[in-house]
Amino acid sequence: MSNNSQPSSLRKQSIVIVGGGSAGWMSAAAFATHLSPEHFHITLVESKDIGTVSVGEATIPGILEFNQMLGINEAEFLAFTKGSFKLGIIFKDWYEKGNQYMHPFGAYGVNIQGLPFHHYLLQDKADSGSSMQNLSPYCIEYAAALNNKFSHPQPQSRSPLASIKYAYHFDATLYAQFLQQLACSKGVVHIQDYITDVSQHPNGDIASITLANGPAVEGDIFIDCSGFKGLLINQTLGVKFEDWRQYLPCDSAIAMPSETLEELKPYTISSAHENGWQWQIPLQHRVGNGFVYASEFLNEQNAIDQLSTQLPSKAIGEPRTVKWINGKRKNVWEKNCIAIGLSAGFIEPLESTGLQLVQSAITRLLSLWPNLPVAKAVRDQFNAYTNDEIDAIRDFVILHYVANKRRDSSFWQHCQQITLPERLQNKIALYESSGNIFRDNNELFNEISWFSVLNGQGLTPTSYHPLANNLPAASRKQYFKTIAGAMQEASASMLDHGEYLAKYIAQS
Ligand code: FAD
Repeated sequence: MSNNSQPSSLRKQSIVIVGGGSAGWMSAAAFATHLSPEHFHITLVESKDIGTVSVGEATIPGILEFNQMLGINEAEFLAFTKGSFKLGIIFKDWYEKGNQYMHPFGAYGVNIQGLPFHHYLLQDKADSGSSMQNLSPYCIEYAAALNNKFSHPQPQSRSPLASIKYAYHFDATLYAQFLQQLACSKGVVHIQDYITDVSQHPNGDIASITLANGPAVEGDIFIDCSGFKGLLINQTLGVKFEDWRQYLPCDSAIAMPSETLEELKPYTISSAHENGWQWQIPLQHRVGNGFVYASEFLNEQNAIDQLSTQLPSKAIGEPRTVKWINGKRKNVWEKNCIAIGLSAGFIEPLESTGLQLVQSAITRLLSLWPNLPVAKAVRDQFNAYTNDEIDAIRDFVILHYVANKRRDSSFWQHCQQITLPERLQNKIALYESSGNIFRDNNELFNEISWFSVLNGQGLTPTSYHPLANNLPAASRKQYFKTIAGAMQEASASMLDHGEYLAKYIAQS
Protein backbone atom coordinates (compact mmCIF):
# COMPACT_ATOMS: atom_id res chain seq x y z
CA MET A 1 0.00 0.00 0.00
CA SER A 2 2.70 2.52 0.97
CA ASN A 3 5.51 3.60 -1.32
CA ASN A 4 8.52 2.73 0.81
CA SER A 5 11.04 4.56 -1.40
CA GLN A 6 9.66 7.96 -0.31
CA PRO A 7 10.53 9.74 2.95
CA SER A 8 7.94 8.68 5.54
CA SER A 9 6.51 12.21 5.81
CA LEU A 10 5.70 12.22 2.07
CA ARG A 11 4.06 8.82 1.79
CA LYS A 12 0.33 8.85 1.31
CA GLN A 13 -1.22 7.24 4.37
CA SER A 14 -4.20 4.96 4.28
CA ILE A 15 -6.45 5.29 7.33
CA VAL A 16 -9.03 2.59 8.04
CA ILE A 17 -11.77 3.36 10.55
CA VAL A 18 -13.54 0.27 11.88
CA GLY A 19 -17.05 1.12 13.06
CA GLY A 20 -19.78 3.56 12.09
CA GLY A 21 -21.17 4.63 15.46
CA SER A 22 -20.68 8.13 16.83
CA ALA A 23 -16.96 7.49 17.37
CA GLY A 24 -16.41 6.23 13.83
CA TRP A 25 -18.24 9.05 12.10
CA MET A 26 -16.84 11.75 14.39
CA SER A 27 -13.36 10.44 13.51
CA ALA A 28 -14.10 10.19 9.81
CA ALA A 29 -15.58 13.69 9.60
CA ALA A 30 -12.73 15.27 11.56
CA PHE A 31 -9.96 13.47 9.67
CA ALA A 32 -11.56 14.22 6.31
CA THR A 33 -11.77 17.89 7.27
CA HIS A 34 -8.19 18.22 8.48
CA LEU A 35 -6.11 15.66 6.61
CA SER A 36 -5.72 16.53 2.95
CA PRO A 37 -6.85 13.92 0.40
CA GLU A 38 -3.55 14.43 -1.36
CA HIS A 39 -1.76 12.78 1.56
CA PHE A 40 -4.43 10.66 3.23
CA HIS A 41 -6.96 8.12 2.06
CA ILE A 42 -9.76 7.41 4.55
CA THR A 43 -12.06 4.38 4.58
CA LEU A 44 -14.78 3.60 7.12
CA VAL A 45 -16.15 0.08 7.46
CA GLU A 46 -19.28 -0.73 9.43
CA SER A 47 -21.74 -3.56 9.60
CA LYS A 48 -25.44 -2.78 9.60
CA ASP A 49 -25.98 -6.28 11.05
CA ILE A 50 -24.20 -5.29 14.25
CA GLY A 51 -25.60 -1.80 14.63
CA THR A 52 -24.47 0.90 17.01
CA VAL A 53 -25.04 1.54 20.68
CA SER A 54 -27.17 4.59 19.70
CA VAL A 55 -27.17 6.33 23.03
CA GLY A 56 -25.00 9.36 23.78
CA GLU A 57 -27.53 12.14 23.52
CA ALA A 58 -26.32 14.59 26.15
CA THR A 59 -23.07 16.47 25.73
CA ILE A 60 -20.84 19.00 27.45
CA PRO A 61 -19.62 22.33 26.01
CA GLY A 62 -16.53 20.92 24.27
CA ILE A 63 -18.87 19.61 21.56
CA LEU A 64 -19.26 23.20 20.30
CA GLU A 65 -15.55 23.36 19.50
CA PHE A 66 -15.71 20.00 17.81
CA ASN A 67 -18.60 21.02 15.57
CA GLN A 68 -16.90 24.35 14.82
CA MET A 69 -13.73 22.50 13.90
CA LEU A 70 -15.77 20.66 11.27
CA GLY A 71 -17.34 23.89 10.00
CA ILE A 72 -20.83 22.74 11.01
CA ASN A 73 -23.64 25.27 10.89
CA GLU A 74 -25.25 25.09 14.34
CA ALA A 75 -28.84 25.72 13.32
CA GLU A 76 -28.67 23.16 10.51
CA PHE A 77 -27.14 20.65 12.89
CA LEU A 78 -29.84 21.22 15.53
CA ALA A 79 -32.59 20.93 12.92
CA PHE A 80 -31.16 17.68 11.51
CA THR A 81 -30.43 16.00 14.84
CA LYS A 82 -33.67 17.21 16.52
CA GLY A 83 -31.38 18.73 19.11
CA SER A 84 -31.87 21.16 21.97
CA PHE A 85 -29.63 23.37 24.10
CA LYS A 86 -28.24 22.15 27.41
CA LEU A 87 -27.12 24.43 30.26
CA GLY A 88 -26.08 21.65 32.62
CA ILE A 89 -27.46 18.73 34.61
CA ILE A 90 -29.99 18.90 37.43
CA PHE A 91 -29.30 16.19 39.97
CA LYS A 92 -32.36 15.12 41.92
CA ASP A 93 -32.30 12.99 45.07
CA TRP A 94 -28.57 12.37 44.84
CA TYR A 95 -27.50 13.95 48.11
CA GLU A 96 -30.69 12.81 49.82
CA LYS A 97 -34.28 12.25 48.74
CA GLY A 98 -36.03 15.55 48.08
CA ASN A 99 -32.80 17.47 47.45
CA GLN A 100 -31.75 18.84 44.09
CA TYR A 101 -28.79 20.78 42.75
CA MET A 102 -27.36 21.69 39.39
CA HIS A 103 -24.01 21.12 37.79
CA PRO A 104 -24.18 24.08 35.41
CA PHE A 105 -21.69 24.67 32.62
CA GLY A 106 -20.94 28.24 33.69
CA ALA A 107 -19.50 29.91 36.76
CA TYR A 108 -20.89 31.07 40.08
CA GLY A 109 -20.52 34.80 40.64
CA VAL A 110 -17.17 36.34 39.82
CA ASN A 111 -13.72 36.08 41.34
CA ILE A 112 -13.36 38.77 43.99
CA GLN A 113 -9.89 40.09 44.80
CA GLY A 114 -8.49 37.15 42.84
CA LEU A 115 -10.30 34.52 44.92
CA PRO A 116 -12.89 32.13 43.49
CA PHE A 117 -16.41 33.13 44.43
CA HIS A 118 -17.15 29.93 46.32
CA HIS A 119 -14.77 30.99 49.13
CA TYR A 120 -17.05 33.96 49.81
CA LEU A 121 -20.08 31.68 49.79
CA LEU A 122 -18.35 29.49 52.36
CA GLN A 123 -17.41 32.55 54.38
CA ASP A 124 -21.01 33.77 54.30
CA LYS A 125 -22.22 30.40 55.46
CA ALA A 126 -19.69 30.43 58.32
CA ASP A 127 -20.56 34.04 59.28
CA SER A 128 -24.29 34.10 58.90
CA GLY A 129 -25.34 30.49 58.44
CA SER A 130 -26.54 31.14 54.88
CA SER A 131 -27.58 28.08 52.92
CA MET A 132 -25.46 26.71 50.11
CA GLN A 133 -28.34 24.56 48.84
CA ASN A 134 -29.67 26.67 46.02
CA LEU A 135 -26.95 28.64 44.29
CA SER A 136 -29.09 29.58 41.28
CA PRO A 137 -29.10 33.31 42.14
CA TYR A 138 -25.34 33.41 41.43
CA CYS A 139 -25.16 31.48 38.17
CA ILE A 140 -26.80 32.52 34.91
CA GLU A 141 -27.05 28.98 33.52
CA TYR A 142 -28.66 27.74 36.75
CA ALA A 143 -31.10 30.67 36.97
CA ALA A 144 -32.04 30.31 33.28
CA ALA A 145 -32.49 26.55 33.58
CA LEU A 146 -34.93 26.85 36.47
CA ASN A 147 -36.96 29.30 34.38
CA ASN A 148 -36.72 27.20 31.20
CA LYS A 149 -34.90 29.99 29.38
CA PHE A 150 -32.07 30.05 26.89
CA SER A 151 -29.91 32.52 25.03
CA HIS A 152 -26.69 32.23 23.11
CA PRO A 153 -23.85 34.15 24.72
CA GLN A 154 -23.93 37.82 23.79
CA PRO A 155 -20.26 38.78 23.87
CA GLN A 156 -20.95 42.53 23.55
CA SER A 157 -23.22 42.54 26.58
CA ARG A 158 -21.85 43.74 29.91
CA SER A 159 -24.28 41.44 31.72
CA PRO A 160 -23.97 37.72 32.60
CA LEU A 161 -25.43 37.05 29.13
CA ALA A 162 -21.95 37.68 27.73
CA SER A 163 -20.55 34.37 28.87
CA ILE A 164 -23.30 31.77 28.86
CA LYS A 165 -21.90 28.26 28.50
CA TYR A 166 -23.92 25.56 26.87
CA ALA A 167 -23.87 22.22 25.10
CA TYR A 168 -26.47 20.14 23.24
CA HIS A 169 -28.86 17.27 23.54
CA PHE A 170 -29.36 15.46 20.23
CA ASP A 171 -30.49 12.23 18.68
CA ALA A 172 -27.32 10.12 18.56
CA THR A 173 -28.34 8.18 15.47
CA LEU A 174 -29.12 11.38 13.59
CA TYR A 175 -25.81 12.92 14.67
CA ALA A 176 -23.93 9.95 13.22
CA GLN A 177 -25.94 10.32 9.98
CA PHE A 178 -25.20 14.04 9.85
CA LEU A 179 -21.48 13.38 10.22
CA GLN A 180 -21.63 10.56 7.70
CA GLN A 181 -22.94 12.94 5.05
CA LEU A 182 -20.22 15.42 5.91
CA ALA A 183 -17.44 12.82 5.89
CA CYS A 184 -18.55 11.20 2.65
CA SER A 185 -18.88 14.60 0.96
CA LYS A 186 -15.21 15.12 1.81
CA GLY A 187 -14.08 11.89 0.22
CA VAL A 188 -14.34 9.23 2.95
CA VAL A 189 -14.94 5.82 1.37
CA HIS A 190 -17.82 4.09 3.16
CA ILE A 191 -18.02 0.29 3.11
CA GLN A 192 -20.91 -1.58 4.66
CA ASP A 193 -19.75 -5.09 5.34
CA TYR A 194 -18.99 -7.46 8.17
CA ILE A 195 -15.35 -7.82 9.20
CA THR A 196 -14.58 -11.51 9.54
CA ASP A 197 -10.86 -11.44 10.15
CA VAL A 198 -7.86 -9.20 10.77
CA SER A 199 -4.36 -9.88 9.47
CA GLN A 200 -1.13 -8.59 10.94
CA HIS A 201 2.39 -7.88 9.72
CA PRO A 202 5.22 -9.90 11.31
CA ASN A 203 5.90 -6.96 13.68
CA GLY A 204 2.33 -7.15 14.98
CA ASP A 205 1.02 -4.09 13.16
CA ILE A 206 -2.38 -4.56 11.62
CA ALA A 207 -2.09 -5.10 7.87
CA SER A 208 -5.68 -5.48 6.68
CA ILE A 209 -9.22 -6.41 7.58
CA THR A 210 -11.07 -9.18 5.79
CA LEU A 211 -14.67 -8.55 4.78
CA ALA A 212 -17.49 -11.05 4.40
CA ASN A 213 -18.45 -9.84 0.94
CA GLY A 214 -15.65 -7.76 -0.49
CA PRO A 215 -11.89 -7.50 -0.93
CA ALA A 216 -9.67 -7.07 2.13
CA VAL A 217 -9.00 -3.46 3.16
CA GLU A 218 -5.34 -2.65 3.79
CA GLY A 219 -4.18 0.29 5.82
CA ASP A 220 -1.30 2.11 7.50
CA ILE A 221 -3.25 3.39 10.51
CA PHE A 222 -6.32 1.63 11.91
CA ILE A 223 -8.82 3.44 14.10
CA ASP A 224 -10.78 1.00 16.23
CA CYS A 225 -14.28 2.40 16.74
CA SER A 226 -15.88 -1.04 16.94
CA GLY A 227 -17.58 -0.49 20.30
CA PHE A 228 -17.20 -2.32 23.60
CA LYS A 229 -15.68 -5.49 22.15
CA GLY A 230 -12.66 -3.69 20.65
CA LEU A 231 -12.32 -5.78 17.50
CA LEU A 232 -8.76 -4.59 16.81
CA ILE A 233 -7.38 -3.23 20.09
CA ASN A 234 -8.67 -6.13 22.17
CA GLN A 235 -9.56 -9.11 20.02
CA THR A 236 -6.59 -8.72 17.67
CA LEU A 237 -3.89 -6.93 19.66
CA GLY A 238 -4.91 -8.21 23.09
CA VAL A 239 -4.46 -4.91 24.94
CA LYS A 240 -5.62 -5.43 28.50
CA PHE A 241 -8.59 -3.67 30.03
CA GLU A 242 -8.46 -2.03 33.44
CA ASP A 243 -11.75 -2.87 35.14
CA TRP A 244 -13.21 -0.18 37.43
CA ARG A 245 -16.08 -2.22 38.83
CA GLN A 246 -14.75 -1.65 42.33
CA TYR A 247 -15.24 2.10 41.91
CA LEU A 248 -18.34 2.40 39.78
CA PRO A 249 -21.09 -0.14 40.48
CA CYS A 250 -23.54 0.61 37.63
CA ASP A 251 -23.01 -1.63 34.63
CA SER A 252 -26.33 -1.67 32.77
CA ALA A 253 -28.94 0.67 31.37
CA ILE A 254 -32.43 0.44 29.95
CA ALA A 255 -33.16 3.11 27.34
CA MET A 256 -36.74 3.97 26.39
CA PRO A 257 -38.00 7.07 24.56
CA SER A 258 -41.21 8.84 25.47
CA GLU A 259 -43.37 11.60 24.02
CA THR A 260 -42.25 15.21 24.17
CA LEU A 261 -43.31 17.28 27.15
CA GLU A 262 -45.03 20.63 27.00
CA GLU A 263 -41.88 22.42 28.11
CA LEU A 264 -38.56 21.81 26.38
CA LYS A 265 -36.13 21.87 29.27
CA PRO A 266 -32.65 23.30 28.63
CA TYR A 267 -30.96 20.73 30.87
CA THR A 268 -30.57 17.02 31.49
CA ILE A 269 -32.22 15.57 34.58
CA SER A 270 -30.47 12.85 36.54
CA SER A 271 -32.65 11.40 39.30
CA ALA A 272 -31.14 9.01 41.80
CA HIS A 273 -33.17 5.90 42.66
CA GLU A 274 -32.71 3.09 45.12
CA ASN A 275 -30.60 1.04 42.75
CA GLY A 276 -29.16 3.55 40.32
CA TRP A 277 -30.37 6.61 38.50
CA GLN A 278 -32.59 7.76 35.67
CA TRP A 279 -31.74 10.18 32.87
CA GLN A 280 -34.18 12.46 31.09
CA ILE A 281 -32.97 14.18 27.93
CA PRO A 282 -35.34 16.58 26.15
CA LEU A 283 -35.20 16.51 22.35
CA GLN A 284 -37.46 18.14 19.77
CA HIS A 285 -39.22 14.90 18.81
CA ARG A 286 -39.06 12.85 22.00
CA VAL A 287 -37.67 12.61 25.50
CA GLY A 288 -34.71 10.28 25.79
CA ASN A 289 -35.01 8.27 29.01
CA GLY A 290 -32.77 5.73 30.56
CA PHE A 291 -32.37 3.85 33.79
CA VAL A 292 -28.78 3.12 34.81
CA TYR A 293 -28.39 0.40 37.43
CA ALA A 294 -26.05 -2.11 38.99
CA SER A 295 -26.93 -5.64 37.88
CA GLU A 296 -25.60 -6.91 41.20
CA PHE A 297 -28.52 -5.21 42.94
CA LEU A 298 -31.34 -5.18 40.38
CA ASN A 299 -32.36 -7.55 37.62
CA GLU A 300 -33.17 -6.45 34.10
CA GLN A 301 -36.93 -6.98 34.31
CA ASN A 302 -37.17 -4.96 37.52
CA ALA A 303 -35.14 -2.20 35.90
CA ILE A 304 -37.50 -2.18 32.90
CA ASP A 305 -40.50 -2.07 35.25
CA GLN A 306 -39.01 0.79 37.25
CA LEU A 307 -38.26 2.87 34.20
CA SER A 308 -41.64 2.13 32.61
CA THR A 309 -43.50 3.35 35.66
CA GLN A 310 -41.37 6.46 36.05
CA LEU A 311 -41.36 7.83 32.53
CA PRO A 312 -42.24 11.53 32.33
CA SER A 313 -44.60 10.90 29.38
CA LYS A 314 -46.09 8.07 27.30
CA ALA A 315 -43.54 5.54 25.99
CA ILE A 316 -43.01 5.60 22.22
CA GLY A 317 -40.56 2.75 21.88
CA GLU A 318 -39.58 -0.57 23.37
CA PRO A 319 -37.06 -0.78 26.22
CA ARG A 320 -33.50 -1.50 25.06
CA THR A 321 -30.83 -2.89 27.36
CA VAL A 322 -27.16 -1.91 27.16
CA LYS A 323 -24.49 -3.55 29.31
CA TRP A 324 -20.90 -2.51 29.93
CA ILE A 325 -17.94 -2.66 32.26
CA ASN A 326 -16.60 0.68 33.46
CA GLY A 327 -12.91 0.91 32.75
CA LYS A 328 -10.24 1.74 30.22
CA ARG A 329 -7.96 0.04 27.77
CA LYS A 330 -4.47 0.15 29.30
CA ASN A 331 -3.02 1.56 26.09
CA VAL A 332 -5.47 2.98 23.61
CA TRP A 333 -2.73 3.29 21.00
CA GLU A 334 -1.01 -0.02 20.35
CA LYS A 335 1.10 -0.77 17.26
CA ASN A 336 -0.60 1.06 14.37
CA CYS A 337 -4.05 0.95 15.97
CA ILE A 338 -5.76 3.68 17.97
CA ALA A 339 -8.95 2.87 19.87
CA ILE A 340 -11.49 5.67 20.00
CA GLY A 341 -14.92 5.51 21.63
CA LEU A 342 -16.28 2.56 23.57
CA SER A 343 -13.41 0.30 22.43
CA ALA A 344 -11.04 2.63 24.35
CA GLY A 345 -12.98 2.59 27.59
CA PHE A 346 -16.17 3.79 29.14
CA ILE A 347 -17.33 5.58 32.24
CA GLU A 348 -21.04 5.34 32.83
CA PRO A 349 -22.99 8.28 31.41
CA LEU A 350 -23.71 10.27 34.58
CA GLU A 351 -21.73 13.33 33.44
CA SER A 352 -22.24 12.89 29.67
CA THR A 353 -18.55 12.36 28.99
CA GLY A 354 -18.57 9.62 26.31
CA LEU A 355 -18.57 11.84 23.24
CA GLN A 356 -16.18 14.28 24.90
CA LEU A 357 -13.65 11.45 25.24
CA VAL A 358 -14.15 10.67 21.58
CA GLN A 359 -13.60 14.24 20.45
CA SER A 360 -10.60 14.82 22.67
CA ALA A 361 -8.98 11.62 21.36
CA ILE A 362 -9.59 12.85 17.81
CA THR A 363 -8.11 16.30 18.38
CA ARG A 364 -5.17 14.82 20.27
CA LEU A 365 -4.55 12.37 17.46
CA LEU A 366 -4.70 15.14 14.88
CA SER A 367 -2.13 17.13 16.81
CA LEU A 368 0.15 14.08 17.20
CA TRP A 369 -0.52 12.55 13.80
CA PRO A 370 2.39 10.20 13.15
CA ASN A 371 4.72 9.80 10.28
CA LEU A 372 5.31 6.16 9.37
CA PRO A 373 6.44 3.97 10.96
CA VAL A 374 4.77 5.18 14.14
CA ALA A 375 7.35 6.33 16.69
CA LYS A 376 7.05 4.89 20.18
CA ALA A 377 7.42 8.36 21.70
CA VAL A 378 4.33 9.59 19.87
CA ARG A 379 2.30 6.60 21.04
CA ASP A 380 3.54 6.97 24.62
CA GLN A 381 2.59 10.64 24.71
CA PHE A 382 -0.88 9.91 23.43
CA ASN A 383 -1.41 7.05 25.87
CA ALA A 384 -0.17 8.99 28.88
CA TYR A 385 -2.46 11.91 28.18
CA THR A 386 -5.44 9.66 27.51
CA ASN A 387 -4.90 7.73 30.73
CA ASP A 388 -4.76 10.88 32.78
CA GLU A 389 -7.86 12.29 31.18
CA ILE A 390 -10.08 9.28 31.77
CA ASP A 391 -8.79 8.69 35.32
CA ALA A 392 -9.81 12.23 36.29
CA ILE A 393 -13.29 11.80 34.80
CA ARG A 394 -13.68 8.51 36.65
CA ASP A 395 -12.91 10.26 39.94
CA PHE A 396 -15.42 13.00 39.23
CA VAL A 397 -18.16 10.45 38.58
CA ILE A 398 -17.30 8.34 41.65
CA LEU A 399 -17.75 11.45 43.82
CA HIS A 400 -21.52 11.44 43.17
CA TYR A 401 -21.89 7.91 44.51
CA VAL A 402 -19.87 8.26 47.67
CA ALA A 403 -20.56 11.79 48.93
CA ASN A 404 -24.21 11.74 49.92
CA LYS A 405 -26.56 10.79 52.71
CA ARG A 406 -28.26 7.94 50.90
CA ARG A 407 -28.20 4.68 52.82
CA ASP A 408 -31.69 3.50 51.93
CA SER A 409 -30.81 0.38 49.93
CA SER A 410 -28.11 -2.25 49.62
CA PHE A 411 -26.93 -0.38 46.53
CA TRP A 412 -26.31 2.89 48.39
CA GLN A 413 -24.85 1.06 51.37
CA HIS A 414 -22.47 -0.65 48.97
CA CYS A 415 -21.41 2.76 47.63
CA GLN A 416 -20.25 3.70 51.13
CA GLN A 417 -17.80 0.78 51.02
CA ILE A 418 -16.04 2.00 47.86
CA THR A 419 -12.33 2.61 48.41
CA LEU A 420 -11.54 5.85 46.64
CA PRO A 421 -8.64 6.30 44.22
CA GLU A 422 -5.88 8.30 45.88
CA ARG A 423 -6.30 11.38 43.71
CA LEU A 424 -9.97 11.65 44.63
CA GLN A 425 -9.20 11.15 48.31
CA ASN A 426 -6.73 14.02 48.10
CA LYS A 427 -9.16 16.24 46.27
CA ILE A 428 -11.87 15.71 48.86
CA ALA A 429 -9.41 16.20 51.73
CA LEU A 430 -8.14 19.46 50.24
CA TYR A 431 -11.66 20.79 49.79
CA GLU A 432 -12.90 19.69 53.18
CA SER A 433 -9.95 21.19 55.00
CA SER A 434 -9.59 24.48 53.11
CA GLY A 435 -12.30 24.99 50.52
CA ASN A 436 -9.59 24.81 47.87
CA ILE A 437 -10.00 22.96 44.59
CA PHE A 438 -7.16 22.47 42.14
CA ARG A 439 -7.49 21.32 38.59
CA ASP A 440 -4.90 18.66 37.83
CA ASN A 441 -3.12 18.36 34.48
CA ASN A 442 -5.39 17.66 31.54
CA GLU A 443 -8.41 17.47 33.77
CA LEU A 444 -11.67 17.88 31.87
CA PHE A 445 -13.75 19.25 34.71
CA ASN A 446 -12.65 22.58 36.10
CA GLU A 447 -12.77 23.93 39.64
CA ILE A 448 -16.32 25.20 39.19
CA SER A 449 -17.61 21.80 38.12
CA TRP A 450 -15.90 20.19 41.08
CA PHE A 451 -17.33 22.80 43.41
CA SER A 452 -20.85 22.24 42.02
CA VAL A 453 -20.71 18.55 42.75
CA LEU A 454 -18.72 18.68 46.00
CA ASN A 455 -21.16 21.22 47.37
CA GLY A 456 -24.23 19.68 45.77
CA GLN A 457 -23.39 16.28 47.22
CA GLY A 458 -23.25 17.87 50.66
CA LEU A 459 -19.54 18.21 51.42
CA THR A 460 -18.86 21.25 53.60
CA PRO A 461 -15.31 22.48 54.19
CA THR A 462 -14.28 23.29 57.72
CA SER A 463 -12.72 26.54 56.51
CA TYR A 464 -12.29 28.82 53.50
CA HIS A 465 -9.43 30.84 52.08
CA PRO A 466 -8.23 33.36 54.71
CA LEU A 467 -7.83 36.09 52.08
CA ALA A 468 -11.64 36.22 51.87
CA ASN A 469 -11.51 37.94 55.26
CA ASN A 470 -9.96 40.99 53.57
CA LEU A 471 -13.43 41.82 52.29
CA PRO A 472 -15.67 43.36 54.95
CA ALA A 473 -18.94 41.49 55.52
CA ALA A 474 -21.02 44.44 54.32
CA SER A 475 -19.10 44.58 51.03
CA ARG A 476 -19.52 40.84 50.59
CA LYS A 477 -23.28 41.13 51.08
CA GLN A 478 -23.35 43.99 48.60
CA TYR A 479 -21.43 41.91 46.02
CA PHE A 480 -23.88 39.05 46.48
CA LYS A 481 -26.83 41.38 46.03
CA THR A 482 -25.38 42.96 42.91
CA ILE A 483 -24.50 39.61 41.36
CA ALA A 484 -27.91 38.09 42.13
CA GLY A 485 -29.62 41.18 40.72
CA ALA A 486 -27.61 41.00 37.51
CA MET A 487 -28.38 37.28 37.10
CA GLN A 488 -32.07 37.83 37.70
CA GLU A 489 -32.27 40.67 35.21
CA ALA A 490 -30.32 38.73 32.60
CA SER A 491 -32.37 35.55 32.94
CA ALA A 492 -35.62 37.54 32.82
CA SER A 493 -34.54 38.97 29.47
CA MET A 494 -34.03 35.52 27.93
CA LEU A 495 -36.63 33.69 25.83
CA ASP A 496 -38.34 30.44 26.65
CA HIS A 497 -36.00 27.66 25.47
CA GLY A 498 -38.48 25.97 23.12
CA GLU A 499 -39.45 29.28 21.55
CA TYR A 500 -35.83 30.36 21.19
CA LEU A 501 -34.84 27.08 19.55
CA ALA A 502 -37.75 27.12 17.10
CA LYS A 503 -36.94 30.71 16.04
CA TYR A 504 -33.24 29.97 15.75
CA ILE A 505 -33.78 26.96 13.52
CA ALA A 506 -36.40 28.75 11.41
CA GLN A 507 -34.09 31.72 10.79
CA SER A 508 -31.23 29.59 9.53
P1 FAD B 1 -20.84 1.77 18.74
O1 FAD B 1 -21.94 2.74 18.65
O2 FAD B 1 -21.12 0.48 19.44
O3 FAD B 1 -20.39 1.44 17.24
C1 FAD B 1 -19.64 0.30 16.94
C2 FAD B 1 -19.52 0.18 15.42
O4 FAD B 1 -18.61 -0.87 15.11
C3 FAD B 1 -20.82 -0.13 14.71
O5 FAD B 1 -20.95 0.67 13.56
C4 FAD B 1 -20.64 -1.59 14.27
O6 FAD B 1 -21.34 -1.86 13.08
C5 FAD B 1 -19.15 -1.64 14.06
N1 FAD B 1 -18.61 -3.01 14.12
C6 FAD B 1 -18.35 -3.74 15.22
N2 FAD B 1 -17.91 -4.97 14.86
C7 FAD B 1 -17.87 -4.98 13.50
C8 FAD B 1 -17.53 -5.97 12.54
N3 FAD B 1 -17.11 -7.21 12.88
N4 FAD B 1 -17.63 -5.65 11.24
C9 FAD B 1 -18.04 -4.42 10.85
N5 FAD B 1 -18.39 -3.45 11.72
C10 FAD B 1 -18.31 -3.75 13.03
N6 FAD B 1 -22.01 9.66 25.70
C11 FAD B 1 -22.28 10.97 25.81
O7 FAD B 1 -21.46 11.80 25.42
N7 FAD B 1 -23.46 11.41 26.36
C12 FAD B 1 -24.39 10.56 26.83
O8 FAD B 1 -25.45 10.99 27.28
C13 FAD B 1 -24.11 9.17 26.76
N8 FAD B 1 -25.00 8.27 27.22
C14 FAD B 1 -24.70 6.96 27.16
C15 FAD B 1 -25.57 6.03 27.74
C16 FAD B 1 -25.24 4.68 27.74
C17 FAD B 1 -26.16 3.69 28.39
C18 FAD B 1 -24.04 4.23 27.11
C19 FAD B 1 -23.69 2.77 27.06
C20 FAD B 1 -23.19 5.14 26.52
C21 FAD B 1 -23.49 6.50 26.56
N9 FAD B 1 -22.62 7.43 26.02
C22 FAD B 1 -22.88 8.76 26.16
C23 FAD B 1 -21.42 7.02 25.29
C24 FAD B 1 -21.67 7.07 23.79
O9 FAD B 1 -22.87 6.40 23.48
C25 FAD B 1 -20.51 6.44 23.03
O10 FAD B 1 -19.34 7.06 23.44
C26 FAD B 1 -20.67 6.65 21.55
O11 FAD B 1 -21.91 6.23 21.10
C27 FAD B 1 -19.57 5.95 20.79
O12 FAD B 1 -19.88 4.62 20.52
P2 FAD B 1 -18.94 3.86 19.50
O13 FAD B 1 -19.05 4.52 18.19
O14 FAD B 1 -17.61 3.73 20.12
O15 FAD B 1 -19.54 2.37 19.44
